[in-house]
Amino acid sequence: MRVILIKYGELTTKKGNRNFFVNTLYQNIKEKLKNYQVKITKDISRMYIEFEDSELENIKFVMDHIFGIHMYNIAYVVNTNIEDIKNQVLDILKHKKFKTFKIETKRSDKKFSLTSQEINPLLGSYILNNINDIKVNVHNPDIFVKVEIRENHSYIYTNGHKGCGGYPIGTQAKGMLMLSGGIDSPVAGYLAMKRGIKIDAVYFEAIPHTSLDARNKVIELTKKLASYTNKINLHIVNFTKIQEEIYKKVSPNYTITIMRRMMYRIMEKLANKTSGLVIINGESIGQVASQTLTSMSVINQVTNMPVIRPVACLDKLEIIDIAKKIDTYDISILPYEDCCTVFVPKHPVINPKLDECLKMEERFDYNSMIEEAIDNIKTIKIEDSSNEFKDLL
Ligand code: ATP
Ligand code: MG
Repeated sequence: MRVILIKYGELTTKKGNRNFFVNTLYQNIKEKLKNYQVKITKDISRMYIEFEDSELENIKFVMDHIFGIHMYNIAYVVNTNIEDIKNQVLDILKHKKFKTFKIETKRSDKKFSLTSQEINPLLGSYILNNINDIKVNVHNPDIFVKVEIRENHSYIYTNGHKGCGGYPIGTQAKGMLMLSGGIDSPVAGYLAMKRGIKIDAVYFEAIPHTSLDARNKVIELTKKLASYTNKINLHIVNFTKIQEEIYKKVSPNYTITIMRRMMYRIMEKLANKTSGLVIINGESIGQVASQTLTSMSVINQVTNMPVIRPVACLDKLEIIDIAKKIDTYDISILPYEDCCTVFVPKHPVINPKLDECLKMEERFDYNSMIEEAIDNIKTIKIEDSSNEFKDLL
């Protein structure tokens, strides 16, 4: 029999909160594997998942999308007796390609008659006698075999699989992700979730100036993000009236600044309504006129809510690397217009002034429009998309 073995790694440094972190991870794994034939158990240092062999590849895909897992191993479980252990180690290594190996034994069952120092050479020489052209290398082996001797069962495994790290989602409060169809904001959402933040996504659209294709793109991006959690609420804000009003009343070079101030106002109100504690977005310092420090500061004046900008200090190429890794890049580069790009002025102001913004905002009754936009928000629950192509893997 085999099990997936998850060691808590970085989580164990969370002294007082450790149980909370471990229990959240456990619940998240349970939820993500609810459609699989698995049995999950945990103890103080690790978790074990028993699985059906035929489902292993799919389960590995799921494991690679759960924050809080830094490393996992597929371990063979044998009865704690030296003959079974020897045979299992040989059987594992017979099927691997390698030139050098190392055996590391850990004996938790102190009643077991052999010590670790006795078991290592015993297993090593058994392997050397049964497989040709290999050597022991204790410093830098191609492959290591870990043998953990426990009271009834022992676990044997080789090199592990790297998980996606971070903290389990739900170990932080909820954040509201401003999700456009671009490259940056899905990456910002991924990085925020990696810190344990549960997210709701918010998309501002300006139909008929933006298309349903643009909305579908955001839905597809949300599905990709949902593969790292379970369901994500996507709030769709109808921003048409506000945007048209800005376009009519505000000097062209200030339209983007004012538009973003309106977005932040709506974000804060929606967050308060849905228990979100922070705003998260894909702003990156210096990338465009609205993302200079002066712009960010003037835009940020409309809210006291913290604004987290996970990609603020990354280069575009670094952001693109992550977008490719999380599989959002190909969706993001589809060519549909976003509400920001539709109205983009020729010369957006790079160093906006707060008093100018305030003067221009007096020209229209934005409060009632914001209320109306909030009242008309459509919220859809977006499911993890990985189930859709699970069978294709
Ligand atoms: P992205 O690649 O994520 O679209 P960007 O570089 O194009 O970002 P902007 O269009 O200036 O930058 O937007 C900055 C951030 O504001 C975005 O990353 C996103 O978080 C948010 N944002 C912009 N437009 C929208 C929108 N229509 N709906 C929701 N959020 C938006
Ligand atoms: Mg954009």
